[in-house]
Amino acid sequence: MVKIKGIGAAAGIAIAKALVLEAAELVTEKRTVEDPEVEVTRLREALVLSEAEVRKLKQRTLEQLGEEKAEIFEAHLLVLNDPELLGPVEDKIRTESLNAEYALQEVTSGFISMFENMKSAYLRERAADMRDVTKRVLAHLLKVKVQDLAAINEEVILVAEDLTPSETAQLNRSFVKGFATNIGGRTSHSAIMARSLEIPAVVGTKEILHQVKDGDLLILDGMDGSVLLNPDEATIAEYRAKKEQYEAQRAEYAKLRHVPTVTMDGLHVELAVNIGTPADVAGVLENGGEAVGLYRAEFLYMGRDSMPSEQEQFGAYKTVLERMEGKPVVVRTLDIGGDKELPYLELPKEMNPFLGLRAVRLCLERQDIFRTQLRALLRASVYGNLRIMFPMIATLDEFREAKNILLEEKAKLAAEGIQVSNEIQLGIMVEIPSTAVLADLFAKEVDFFSIGTNDLIQYTMAADRMNERVSYLYQPYNPAILRLVKRVIDSAHAEGKWVGMCGEMAGDETAIPLLIGLGLDEFSMSASSILAARSQISKLSAEEMRTLALEALSCGTAEEVARLVTQTRHHSSFPM
Ligand code: PEP
Ligand code: MG
Repeated sequence: MVKIKGIGAAAGIAIAKALVLEAAELVTEKRTVEDPEVEVTRLREALVLSEAEVRKLKQRTLEQLGEEKAEIFEAHLLVLNDPELLGPVEDKIRTESLNAEYALQEVTSGFISMFENMKSAYLRERAADMRDVTKRVLAHLLKVKVQDLAAINEEVILVAEDLTPSETAQLNRSFVKGFATNIGGRTSHSAIMARSLEIPAVVGTKEILHQVKDGDLLILDGMDGSVLLNPDEATIAEYRAKKEQYEAQRAEYAKLRHVPTVTMDGLHVELAVNIGTPADVAGVLENGGEAVGLYRAEFLYMGRDSMPSEQEQFGAYKTVLERMEGKPVVVRTLDIGGDKELPYLELPKEMNPFLGLRAVRLCLERQDIFRTQLRALLRASVYGNLRIMFPMIATLDEFREAKNILLEEKAKLAAEGIQVSNEIQLGIMVEIPSTAVLADLFAKEVDFFSIGTNDLIQYTMAADRMNERVSYLYQPYNPAILRLVKRVIDSAHAEGKWVGMCGEMAGDETAIPLLIGLGLDEFSMSASSILAARSQISKLSAEEMRTLALEALSCGTAEEVARLVTQTRHHSSFPM
């Protein structure tokens, strides 16, 4: 038995025979032609055939996977009709009397390598689209029959160099039990499609194509990203059991997708998702997220050479609000500094960037940047249920100043006759101990708190969150942290306000029972944790958790707290 390691791209376990996909030979030789117009016509015919195929694929994807996934093929149609691409191909055929396939390959490979070297992930994806489309058109020009993946009619695990999004879209889940490729990463389009199609996949194995032959028995584990080649009976039995367990859990999670998050004894909490881009909303909806609890808007500003304009920001916020269809969306204003740099801002180097001019501190200094973002947010507010929060608030004065700027921008928009929602809640992140300590006073002025434990822990413990050597001090369960969290929650509740948590701690299975016990109202985490958290919470008794939390608050160390949670888990009704 050989174990081949790669990257787990779509969860699940598959046990089946291998079907090795030989890449179609699309060799393009350079030829000089007598009549270039014949080549231009051949090119146009191949484009028409390709377009018909892509339209069919788009329709099929739309029906099976929905609009968002079908957009991939909309991008292919744009490539197939792009005058800036096809113009130069036809020019090349005519001016150099070249054959169509060679001219096409030459021009597209220039664009592909240009896109591949771009900083923006969006533009790098365009390279994948262009490669996919080029392959399709070349197959028509060369009259190479590409294997019809939709026609596979026995249970197999596909093994290939790579799968393009168009190939992935054709896979029939009843027969294709999984796929493994030499190249690709977790965020490549085919990996994303595999997750939507729920086909277990392992990508980026580098060598699987050379190690596996048609008909070899494979076990593919999409969770840990491994493929076992010709496993023995005992291993097959072990993985059959693992597969059953996985499927039983999935069936349970699927039932939880559209139900509210309620404890055994009827306490309702909200499970929200942390997102970085509008595209992440798909994951929120697929996993039954009830809100966006943290939209890290700074990603809009990163990986580029200049500030995003007000209009560009407005577009992104509007998209998220619209896609969430009235469910709450908490947008955090710019949190730059610390480990997130914007080279084009040319800020001076600091000795301690995490304690420096970051987040709202920078925004209060560079009000031009702040005001632009606030205007974009206010304008977008009419498209959904917007909540705004300021990061890294350390003093009441900072909050008041930031709020005044927001009110000034709102008044300016009103004077310009631009509509702004009057329902926008305004909150702060609690990630600095001074703010947690003064939470009772803050609670009188804000609409909500969102506890940012990623920073709150580092500042409370004075342990850099990026520094491995002090990671032993980075202790979410330290009673000091729990006491601060309790203080924030109690202070908010005393003023009738709600409290969320958007640090990693909110999705941590040891912390969740404690946070339920402390009375947290909203938990914001990564999309993939939502269903597991909902399942866990549904098995907890809020009343028991209150007792547990009280006991935890009087523990002396983080280990004692973790032990207490584990013991309670073993002795009571709550499994995890
Ligand atoms: C936090 O500090 O907990 C938080 C959510 O913000 P970030 O991780 O982006 O600093
Ligand atoms: Mg933070």
